[in-house]
Amino acid sequence: MTILVTGGAGYIGSHTCVELLNAGYDVVVVDNFYNSVPAVLDRVEKITGKKLKYYDCDIRDREGLDKIFAEDKPEAVIHFAGLKAVGESSKLPLLYYDNNISGSVTLFEAMENAGCKKIVFSSSATVYGNNPIPYKEDMVTGDVSNPYGRTKHFIEQILGDVYNADNSWSISLLRYFNPIGAHESGLIGEDPNGIPNNLMPYISRVAIGKLEKLTVFGGDYDTKDGTCIRDYIHVVDLAKAHLCAVRKITDSTGIEAYNIGNGKGYSVLDIIRAFEKVSGSPLNYVIGDRRAGDLPAFYADASKANRELGWSAEYDIEKMCEDTWNFQKKNPDGIK
Ligand code: NAD
Ligand code: UDP
Repeated sequence: MTILVTGGAGYIGSHTCVELLNAGYDVVVVDNFYNSVPAVLDRVEKITGKKLKYYDCDIRDREGLDKIFAEDKPEAVIHFAGLKAVGESSKLPLLYYDNNISGSVTLFEAMENAGCKKIVFSSSATVYGNNPIPYKEDMVTGDVSNPYGRTKHFIEQILGDVYNADNSWSISLLRYFNPIGAHESGLIGEDPNGIPNNLMPYISRVAIGKLEKLTVFGGDYDTKDGTCIRDYIHVVDLAKAHLCAVRKITDSTGIEAYNIGNGKGYSVLDIIRAFEKVSGSPLNYVIGDRRAGDLPAFYADASKANRELGWSAEYDIEKMCEDTWNFQKKNPDGIK
């Protein structure tokens, strides 16, 4: 069975390609390499000992997509392609709406045209906004404070409308919590351009000496140690959730959302301590001001994914830090 993976050269996409190839799927990647490099896909092939096919194509390119669907006839799509920097999305909302929403609509049109109506979509816990924790899938979503989060909410709504109009679609909305970690080979991992926005890549660049110190955003939240609480999940666990979701959508029709998280909350200081333990060195950090828009604490109720997808997270925080550090040490200058 062939799976088309948009954004397959990215952080989560590349780990998912590894799991798909290992499970015997044929993989076709569509990526415009805006935030990744083709060399990542060579590394996916090295890890798995299997070949994949890729196209340098933008998901807004309808003609390009039509050709790919006609040539490769994928059974299902996993849709990762998108821009994801929350802060940047507030400065460049139209870029985010065009890339994420117009891109997704173009992709869904190409899918419909090709009769391929099975999709796993990369959504985010951010759609829950200010709900009580733990987040559950049946909560009202959409009270989101930034354009990036709104693109995720809108695409979920669009897919809901697509399903309502045509019940032969099969759609899985995976709401990711905080993916960190890397493949244990150290060949692929999170490799952001420039100064990282996210906690874990920032920590690992401080640890390797590329950045001077981490600023912890806020030490006065109403949490156990004053720092924000998040639900961190190993990227390989997250990748495996996509395999379970692909099995589900190829088996049945419908639209369902699933939380993909560990179900446990860790503070920023917990993560720093766990990283220090693994790297064997103290991390240079200061407690600074709060970052605008950060919620004090959230984590998943992941029981629906456990029950309905047969998926649960395996790896703990220590393994997440170990694999991040291994990737950082093996690729001090990233993947070229
Ligand atoms: P990433 O930037 O590493 O990967 C995204 C990939 O999509 C990149 O390879 C990029 O080049 C490609 N891409 C972007 N726009 C494209 C376009 N118009 N056409 C073709 N390719 C395009 O990001 P990631 O962390 O792997 O995230 C994957 C998906 O998961 C994104 O949709 C993101 O919003 C979502 N998500 C990520 C997180 C996270 O913390 N990493 C959390 C929740 C949801
Ligand atoms: N964070 C931090 N310093 C940084 C980056 C992030 O203290 O340089 C904190 C941030 O305030 C949040 C947590 O780490 O509480 C995770 O942030 P990240 O941006 O990785 O993910 P988010 O939960 O915002 O999607």
